[in-house]
Amino acid sequence: MKILVINAGSSSIKYQLLDAKDGCALASGIVERIGDDMGSLTHKGFIGSANEYKEKMECPFPTHREGMHEVVKLLVDPEKGVIKDHSEISGIGHRIVHGGERFYAPVEIDEDVLQGIRDVIPLAPLHNPGHVIGIEVAMELFPGVRQVAVFDTSFHQTMEPKAYQFGVPYELYEEFGIRRYGFHGTSHKFVAREAAKYLGKPMEECNLVTVHLGNGASLCAIKNGKCYDTSMGLTPLGGIIMGTRCGDIDPAIIGFICDKKGMSVSEVEHMLTHDSGLKGICGSNDLRDIHTRIEEGDERAVLALEMATHRVRQFIGSYFFELGRVDAVIFTAGIGENDPEYRAKTCADLENFGIVMDKDKNWNWDRTPSAISADESPVKVLVIATNEELEIANDTVAVLGL
Ligand code: ADP
Repeated sequence: MKILVINAGSSSIKYQLLDAKDGCALASGIVERIGDDMGSLTHKGFIGSANEYKEKMECPFPTHREGMHEVVKLLVDPEKGVIKDHSEISGIGHRIVHGGERFYAPVEIDEDVLQGIRDVIPLAPLHNPGHVIGIEVAMELFPGVRQVAVFDTSFHQTMEPKAYQFGVPYELYEEFGIRRYGFHGTSHKFVAREAAKYLGKPMEECNLVTVHLGNGASLCAIKNGKCYDTSMGLTPLGGIIMGTRCGDIDPAIIGFICDKKGMSVSEVEHMLTHDSGLKGICGSNDLRDIHTRIEEGDERAVLALEMATHRVRQFIGSYFFELGRVDAVIFTAGIGENDPEYRAKTCADLENFGIVMDKDKNWNWDRTPSAISADESPVKVLVIATNEELEIANDTVAVLGL
Protein backbone atom coordinates (compact mmCIF):
# COMPACT_ATOMS: atom_id res chain seq x y z
CA MET A 1 0.00 0.00 0.00
CA LYS A 2 1.62 3.23 -1.17
CA ILE A 3 1.19 6.53 0.64
CA LEU A 4 2.45 9.86 -0.67
CA VAL A 5 3.60 12.25 2.05
CA ILE A 6 3.74 15.93 1.14
CA ASN A 7 5.29 18.77 3.12
CA ALA A 8 4.56 21.96 1.17
CA GLY A 9 6.37 25.04 2.48
CA SER A 10 6.10 28.63 1.33
CA SER A 11 8.59 28.11 -1.52
CA SER A 12 9.31 24.39 -1.44
CA ILE A 13 7.66 20.99 -1.59
CA LYS A 14 9.22 17.98 0.11
CA TYR A 15 7.69 14.63 -0.76
CA GLN A 16 8.15 10.95 -0.08
CA LEU A 17 6.35 7.94 -1.49
CA LEU A 18 6.34 5.14 1.08
CA ASP A 19 5.23 1.58 1.20
CA ALA A 20 3.14 1.71 4.36
CA LYS A 21 3.47 -2.05 4.93
CA ASP A 22 7.21 -2.09 5.58
CA GLY A 23 7.71 1.66 6.08
CA CYS A 24 10.29 1.85 3.26
CA ALA A 25 10.60 4.94 1.11
CA LEU A 26 10.33 4.22 -2.63
CA ALA A 27 10.95 7.74 -3.87
CA SER A 28 11.59 11.11 -2.29
CA GLY A 29 12.69 14.57 -3.18
CA ILE A 30 12.34 18.30 -2.88
CA VAL A 31 11.24 21.12 -5.15
CA GLU A 32 12.95 24.31 -4.10
CA ARG A 33 12.80 28.04 -4.81
CA ILE A 34 9.23 27.97 -6.14
CA GLY A 35 8.40 31.42 -7.50
CA ASP A 36 12.04 32.42 -8.11
CA ASP A 37 13.59 32.98 -11.54
CA MET A 38 15.26 29.58 -11.25
CA GLY A 39 14.12 26.64 -9.15
CA SER A 40 15.33 23.08 -8.68
CA LEU A 41 13.95 19.60 -8.19
CA THR A 42 16.04 16.88 -6.59
CA HIS A 43 14.53 13.42 -6.89
CA LYS A 44 15.52 9.96 -5.70
CA GLY A 45 13.84 6.83 -7.04
CA PHE A 46 13.90 3.11 -6.19
CA ILE A 47 15.46 3.99 -2.85
CA GLY A 48 17.38 1.17 -1.22
CA SER A 49 17.33 -1.06 -4.32
CA ALA A 50 19.98 -1.83 -6.93
CA ASN A 51 18.20 0.58 -9.31
CA GLU A 52 18.35 3.54 -6.93
CA TYR A 53 19.01 6.78 -8.77
CA LYS A 54 19.17 10.47 -8.00
CA GLU A 55 18.65 13.34 -10.37
CA LYS A 56 18.51 17.07 -10.13
CA MET A 57 16.87 19.42 -12.60
CA GLU A 58 17.05 23.17 -12.68
CA CYS A 59 14.15 25.09 -14.14
CA PRO A 60 11.72 27.75 -12.99
CA PHE A 61 8.65 26.63 -11.02
CA PRO A 62 6.38 29.68 -11.06
CA THR A 63 3.95 28.14 -8.54
CA HIS A 64 3.52 24.98 -6.45
CA ARG A 65 1.31 23.63 -9.23
CA GLU A 66 4.20 23.36 -11.73
CA GLY A 67 6.48 21.89 -9.06
CA MET A 68 3.98 19.20 -8.06
CA HIS A 69 3.26 18.50 -11.72
CA GLU A 70 6.91 17.72 -12.35
CA VAL A 71 7.02 15.45 -9.28
CA VAL A 72 4.02 13.47 -10.55
CA LYS A 73 5.68 13.14 -13.96
CA LEU A 74 8.77 11.65 -12.33
CA LEU A 75 6.75 9.27 -10.14
CA VAL A 76 4.82 7.83 -13.10
CA ASP A 77 7.57 8.08 -15.74
CA PRO A 78 7.37 4.93 -17.94
CA GLU A 79 11.12 4.27 -17.52
CA LYS A 80 12.19 5.83 -14.22
CA GLY A 81 8.89 6.02 -12.36
CA VAL A 82 8.28 3.94 -9.24
CA ILE A 83 4.54 3.64 -9.97
CA LYS A 84 2.46 3.22 -13.13
CA ASP A 85 -0.23 5.77 -12.32
CA HIS A 86 -2.13 7.55 -9.55
CA SER A 87 -4.34 4.59 -8.84
CA GLU A 88 -1.41 2.95 -7.06
CA ILE A 89 -1.45 5.68 -4.40
CA SER A 90 -3.82 4.67 -1.58
CA GLY A 91 -3.73 7.97 0.29
CA ILE A 92 -1.90 11.26 0.65
CA GLY A 93 -0.70 12.61 4.00
CA HIS A 94 0.07 16.30 4.37
CA ARG A 95 2.32 17.70 7.06
CA ILE A 96 0.61 20.77 8.50
CA VAL A 97 2.61 22.90 10.90
CA HIS A 98 -0.26 24.58 12.76
CA GLY A 99 -3.63 23.12 13.66
CA GLY A 100 -4.53 25.69 16.31
CA GLU A 101 -6.89 24.38 19.00
CA ARG A 102 -9.31 22.80 16.56
CA PHE A 103 -7.17 19.93 15.33
CA TYR A 104 -6.07 17.62 18.14
CA ALA A 105 -5.61 14.58 15.86
CA PRO A 106 -4.95 13.78 12.19
CA VAL A 107 -8.05 14.18 10.06
CA GLU A 108 -9.28 13.42 6.55
CA ILE A 109 -9.32 16.56 4.44
CA ASP A 110 -12.59 17.96 3.14
CA GLU A 111 -13.60 21.54 2.35
CA ASP A 112 -14.37 22.24 6.03
CA VAL A 113 -10.95 20.98 7.19
CA LEU A 114 -9.23 22.97 4.46
CA GLN A 115 -11.04 26.08 5.68
CA GLY A 116 -9.95 25.20 9.25
CA ILE A 117 -6.32 25.16 8.09
CA ARG A 118 -6.85 28.51 6.36
CA ASP A 119 -8.38 29.92 9.57
CA VAL A 120 -5.15 29.21 11.44
CA ILE A 121 -3.02 31.18 8.93
CA PRO A 122 -2.70 34.19 11.32
CA LEU A 123 -0.93 31.87 13.80
CA ALA A 124 1.42 30.40 11.16
CA PRO A 125 1.70 32.92 8.33
CA LEU A 126 4.96 31.39 7.05
CA HIS A 127 3.73 27.80 6.93
CA ASN A 128 -0.01 27.26 6.59
CA PRO A 129 -0.47 29.19 3.29
CA GLY A 130 2.00 26.79 1.59
CA HIS A 131 0.19 23.79 3.10
CA VAL A 132 -3.15 25.02 1.74
CA ILE A 133 -1.71 25.39 -1.75
CA GLY A 134 -0.09 21.95 -1.46
CA ILE A 135 -3.45 20.37 -0.59
CA GLU A 136 -5.29 22.22 -3.37
CA VAL A 137 -2.73 21.17 -5.97
CA ALA A 138 -2.71 17.55 -4.73
CA MET A 139 -6.52 17.44 -4.93
CA GLU A 140 -6.32 18.67 -8.50
CA LEU A 141 -3.53 16.29 -9.57
CA PHE A 142 -4.74 13.21 -7.69
CA PRO A 143 -8.51 13.29 -8.18
CA GLY A 144 -10.24 10.64 -6.10
CA VAL A 145 -7.26 9.96 -3.83
CA ARG A 146 -8.22 10.60 -0.18
CA GLN A 147 -6.04 13.02 1.73
CA VAL A 148 -5.20 13.44 5.40
CA ALA A 149 -3.83 16.41 7.36
CA VAL A 150 -1.31 15.58 10.09
CA PHE A 151 -0.54 18.50 12.40
CA ASP A 152 2.75 19.31 14.15
CA THR A 153 0.72 20.81 16.98
CA SER A 154 -1.82 18.06 17.65
CA PHE A 155 0.31 15.83 19.91
CA HIS A 156 0.66 18.80 22.27
CA GLN A 157 -3.06 19.40 22.60
CA THR A 158 -3.13 17.31 25.78
CA MET A 159 -1.26 20.02 27.72
CA GLU A 160 -3.18 21.51 30.62
CA PRO A 161 -3.92 25.26 30.75
CA LYS A 162 -1.24 25.75 33.44
CA ALA A 163 1.33 24.61 30.86
CA TYR A 164 -0.06 26.29 27.77
CA GLN A 165 -1.23 29.68 29.03
CA PHE A 166 1.18 32.61 28.96
CA GLY A 167 1.22 35.22 31.72
CA VAL A 168 -0.48 37.86 29.57
CA PRO A 169 -4.03 39.27 29.73
CA TYR A 170 -6.42 36.35 29.40
CA GLU A 171 -8.44 38.20 26.73
CA LEU A 172 -5.52 37.72 24.32
CA TYR A 173 -6.10 33.98 24.52
CA GLU A 174 -9.86 34.37 24.12
CA GLU A 175 -9.61 36.86 21.28
CA PHE A 176 -6.60 35.63 19.29
CA GLY A 177 -5.76 32.17 20.63
CA ILE A 178 -2.45 33.37 22.07
CA ARG A 179 -1.09 30.37 24.01
CA ARG A 180 1.61 27.71 23.79
CA TYR A 181 0.90 25.24 20.98
CA GLY A 182 4.23 23.44 20.53
CA PHE A 183 5.60 21.91 17.33
CA HIS A 184 7.51 18.84 16.05
CA GLY A 185 4.66 16.81 17.58
CA THR A 186 4.89 14.16 14.85
CA SER A 187 8.54 13.56 15.71
CA HIS A 188 8.03 13.64 19.50
CA LYS A 189 5.19 11.12 19.16
CA PHE A 190 7.17 8.85 16.82
CA VAL A 191 10.27 8.63 19.01
CA ALA A 192 8.20 8.34 22.20
CA ARG A 193 6.42 5.30 20.81
CA GLU A 194 9.71 3.76 19.66
CA ALA A 195 11.13 4.44 23.13
CA ALA A 196 8.17 2.69 24.78
CA LYS A 197 8.82 -0.33 22.53
CA TYR A 198 12.50 -0.28 23.50
CA LEU A 199 11.67 -0.02 27.19
CA GLY A 200 9.13 -2.82 26.85
CA LYS A 201 6.38 -0.74 28.50
CA PRO A 202 2.99 0.42 27.24
CA MET A 203 3.22 4.02 26.04
CA GLU A 204 0.48 5.01 28.58
CA GLU A 205 2.85 4.09 31.40
CA CYS A 206 5.89 5.93 30.07
CA ASN A 207 7.21 9.23 31.39
CA LEU A 208 9.68 10.60 28.87
CA VAL A 209 11.61 13.69 27.88
CA THR A 210 12.03 13.82 24.10
CA VAL A 211 14.72 16.13 22.73
CA HIS A 212 14.30 16.93 19.02
CA LEU A 213 17.45 18.75 17.89
CA GLY A 214 17.40 19.72 14.24
CA ASN A 215 17.77 23.17 12.74
CA GLY A 216 14.55 23.87 14.55
CA ALA A 217 14.57 22.22 17.97
CA SER A 218 12.22 21.51 20.83
CA LEU A 219 11.73 19.37 23.90
CA CYS A 220 8.63 17.62 25.14
CA ALA A 221 7.72 16.32 28.59
CA ILE A 222 5.55 13.24 28.16
CA LYS A 223 3.52 11.98 31.15
CA ASN A 224 1.80 8.62 30.86
CA GLY A 225 2.30 8.70 27.08
CA LYS A 226 0.78 12.15 26.59
CA CYS A 227 2.33 15.55 26.07
CA TYR A 228 2.46 17.39 29.38
CA ASP A 229 4.64 20.33 28.39
CA THR A 230 6.79 21.47 25.48
CA SER A 231 9.39 24.14 24.85
CA MET A 232 8.07 25.92 21.74
CA GLY A 233 5.28 28.42 22.16
CA LEU A 234 2.79 30.27 19.98
CA THR A 235 5.27 29.90 17.13
CA PRO A 236 8.37 27.75 16.51
CA LEU A 237 10.56 30.69 17.60
CA GLY A 238 10.31 29.96 21.32
CA GLY A 239 12.12 27.47 23.56
CA ILE A 240 15.76 26.43 23.30
CA ILE A 241 18.52 28.08 21.25
CA MET A 242 18.30 26.77 17.67
CA GLY A 243 20.35 26.99 14.47
CA THR A 244 19.17 30.48 13.55
CA ARG A 245 16.28 31.07 15.99
CA CYS A 246 16.76 32.74 19.34
CA GLY A 247 14.43 30.61 21.49
CA ASP A 248 13.12 32.13 24.73
CA ILE A 249 14.43 35.64 25.41
CA ASP A 250 13.37 38.49 27.65
CA PRO A 251 10.38 39.88 25.71
CA ALA A 252 11.47 43.45 26.49
CA ILE A 253 14.46 42.93 24.17
CA ILE A 254 12.23 43.36 21.11
CA GLY A 255 11.05 46.87 21.98
CA PHE A 256 14.56 47.78 23.10
CA ILE A 257 16.08 46.79 19.71
CA CYS A 258 13.29 48.62 17.84
CA ASP A 259 14.12 51.78 19.80
CA LYS A 260 17.89 51.57 19.61
CA LYS A 261 18.24 50.35 16.02
CA GLY A 262 15.19 52.07 14.52
CA MET A 263 13.97 48.70 13.28
CA SER A 264 10.35 47.67 12.82
CA VAL A 265 8.89 44.80 14.84
CA SER A 266 8.81 42.59 11.76
CA GLU A 267 12.49 43.38 11.01
CA VAL A 268 13.41 42.36 14.54
CA GLU A 269 11.33 39.19 14.23
CA HIS A 270 13.17 38.37 11.01
CA MET A 271 16.48 38.81 12.82
CA LEU A 272 15.35 36.63 15.74
CA THR A 273 14.23 33.92 13.29
CA HIS A 274 16.99 33.90 10.68
CA ASP A 275 20.10 35.55 12.16
CA SER A 276 20.02 34.54 15.80
CA GLY A 277 20.54 31.27 17.71
CA LEU A 278 23.88 29.56 17.08
CA LYS A 279 24.36 31.62 13.92
CA GLY A 280 23.82 34.88 15.76
CA ILE A 281 26.34 33.97 18.42
CA CYS A 282 29.15 32.48 16.31
CA GLY A 283 28.21 32.97 12.65
CA SER A 284 27.41 29.32 11.92
CA ASN A 285 24.27 27.30 12.47
CA ASP A 286 25.69 23.91 11.57
CA LEU A 287 27.16 21.88 14.44
CA ARG A 288 29.70 20.30 12.08
CA ASP A 289 31.20 23.74 11.35
CA ILE A 290 30.95 24.72 14.98
CA HIS A 291 32.99 21.67 16.09
CA THR A 292 35.65 22.40 13.46
CA ARG A 293 35.88 25.96 14.67
CA ILE A 294 36.07 24.84 18.30
CA GLU A 295 39.06 22.67 17.34
CA GLU A 296 40.63 25.74 15.75
CA GLY A 297 40.23 27.62 19.02
CA ASP A 298 37.28 29.85 18.07
CA GLU A 299 35.89 31.17 21.37
CA ARG A 300 32.55 32.24 19.95
CA ALA A 301 31.96 28.71 18.68
CA VAL A 302 32.77 27.37 22.17
CA LEU A 303 30.30 29.86 23.66
CA ALA A 304 27.55 28.94 21.16
CA LEU A 305 27.77 25.25 22.04
CA GLU A 306 27.95 26.01 25.78
CA MET A 307 24.87 28.23 25.60
CA ALA A 308 22.83 25.80 23.51
CA THR A 309 23.51 22.76 25.71
CA HIS A 310 23.06 24.85 28.89
CA ARG A 311 19.56 25.77 27.73
CA VAL A 312 18.66 22.18 26.85
CA ARG A 313 19.80 21.11 30.34
CA GLN A 314 17.57 23.77 31.88
CA PHE A 315 14.54 22.36 30.07
CA ILE A 316 15.40 18.74 30.86
CA GLY A 317 15.81 19.70 34.52
CA SER A 318 12.47 21.49 34.69
CA TYR A 319 10.75 18.55 32.99
CA PHE A 320 12.22 16.15 35.57
CA PHE A 321 10.45 18.23 38.24
CA GLU A 322 7.21 18.41 36.25
CA LEU A 323 7.14 14.66 35.62
CA GLY A 324 8.41 13.51 39.01
CA ARG A 325 9.57 10.19 37.56
CA VAL A 326 11.32 9.82 34.20
CA ASP A 327 11.88 6.53 32.37
CA ALA A 328 14.03 7.90 29.57
CA VAL A 329 15.45 10.95 27.84
CA ILE A 330 15.45 10.54 24.06
CA PHE A 331 17.65 12.40 21.59
CA THR A 332 16.60 12.67 17.95
CA ALA A 333 16.88 14.66 14.64
CA GLY A 334 20.01 15.98 12.86
CA ILE A 335 21.98 17.05 15.94
CA GLY A 336 20.40 14.59 18.38
CA GLU A 337 21.27 11.65 16.14
CA ASN A 338 24.68 12.76 14.89
CA ASP A 339 26.41 14.76 17.57
CA PRO A 340 27.76 12.69 20.50
CA GLU A 341 29.54 15.70 21.93
CA TYR A 342 26.31 17.71 22.14
CA ARG A 343 24.65 14.75 23.85
CA ALA A 344 27.59 14.26 26.24
CA LYS A 345 27.60 17.93 27.26
CA THR A 346 23.85 17.92 27.74
CA CYS A 347 23.91 14.85 30.01
CA ALA A 348 27.18 15.46 31.90
CA ASP A 349 27.32 15.21 35.70
CA LEU A 350 23.69 14.25 36.21
CA GLU A 351 24.36 11.03 38.14
CA ASN A 352 22.54 12.46 41.18
CA PHE A 353 19.44 12.79 39.00
CA GLY A 354 19.65 9.22 37.75
CA ILE A 355 21.45 9.80 34.45
CA VAL A 356 24.65 7.79 34.07
CA MET A 357 26.11 7.98 30.56
CA ASP A 358 28.14 5.26 28.82
CA LYS A 359 30.87 7.07 26.86
CA ASP A 360 31.49 4.20 24.43
CA LYS A 361 27.83 3.72 23.64
CA ASN A 362 27.36 7.46 23.15
CA TRP A 363 30.28 7.77 20.72
CA ASN A 364 29.47 4.55 18.85
CA TRP A 365 25.69 4.73 18.49
CA ASP A 366 24.83 2.51 15.50
CA ARG A 367 21.57 4.12 14.34
CA THR A 368 19.32 1.47 15.85
CA PRO A 369 17.06 2.72 18.66
CA SER A 370 19.23 2.05 21.69
CA ALA A 371 20.57 3.32 25.00
CA ILE A 372 23.68 5.45 25.35
CA SER A 373 23.37 5.39 29.13
CA ALA A 374 25.11 2.84 31.35
CA ASP A 375 23.21 -0.38 32.07
CA GLU A 376 22.83 0.66 35.73
CA SER A 377 21.49 4.14 34.84
CA PRO A 378 18.06 4.54 36.55
CA VAL A 379 16.99 6.93 33.79
CA LYS A 380 17.78 5.59 30.32
CA VAL A 381 19.20 7.91 27.69
CA LEU A 382 18.20 6.75 24.22
CA VAL A 383 19.00 7.85 20.69
CA ILE A 384 16.22 7.12 18.21
CA ALA A 385 16.26 8.31 14.60
CA THR A 386 13.07 10.20 13.88
CA ASN A 387 10.96 9.46 10.81
CA GLU A 388 8.23 12.06 10.46
CA GLU A 389 7.26 10.87 6.97
CA LEU A 390 6.63 7.35 8.22
CA GLU A 391 4.58 8.69 11.14
CA ILE A 392 2.49 10.77 8.70
CA ALA A 393 2.04 7.75 6.42
CA ASN A 394 0.95 5.61 9.39
CA ASP A 395 -1.49 8.31 10.54
CA THR A 396 -2.86 8.50 6.98
CA VAL A 397 -3.44 4.76 6.89
CA ALA A 398 -5.12 4.86 10.32
CA VAL A 399 -7.41 7.82 9.55
CA LEU A 400 -8.49 6.37 6.21
CA GLY A 401 -8.95 2.91 7.73
CA LEU A 402 -6.82 1.34 5.00
P1 ADP B 1 15.72 20.27 9.98
O1 ADP B 1 14.91 19.04 9.56
O2 ADP B 1 15.17 20.99 11.15
O3 ADP B 1 16.12 21.15 8.85
P2 ADP B 1 17.76 18.30 10.68
O4 ADP B 1 17.04 17.46 11.67
O5 ADP B 1 18.08 17.71 9.34
O6 ADP B 1 17.10 19.73 10.53
O7 ADP B 1 19.14 18.76 11.37
C1 ADP B 1 20.05 19.57 10.69
C2 ADP B 1 21.21 19.90 11.60
O8 ADP B 1 21.79 18.70 12.11
C3 ADP B 1 22.35 20.61 10.91
O9 ADP B 1 22.17 22.01 10.86
C4 ADP B 1 23.54 20.25 11.78
O10 ADP B 1 23.67 21.23 12.81
C5 ADP B 1 23.15 18.94 12.43
N1 ADP B 1 23.96 17.82 11.90
C6 ADP B 1 23.76 17.07 10.82
N2 ADP B 1 24.73 16.14 10.68
C7 ADP B 1 25.57 16.30 11.73
C8 ADP B 1 26.76 15.66 12.19
N3 ADP B 1 27.29 14.63 11.52
N4 ADP B 1 27.34 16.13 13.32
C9 ADP B 1 26.79 17.15 14.01
N5 ADP B 1 25.67 17.79 13.65
C10 ADP B 1 25.06 17.38 12.53
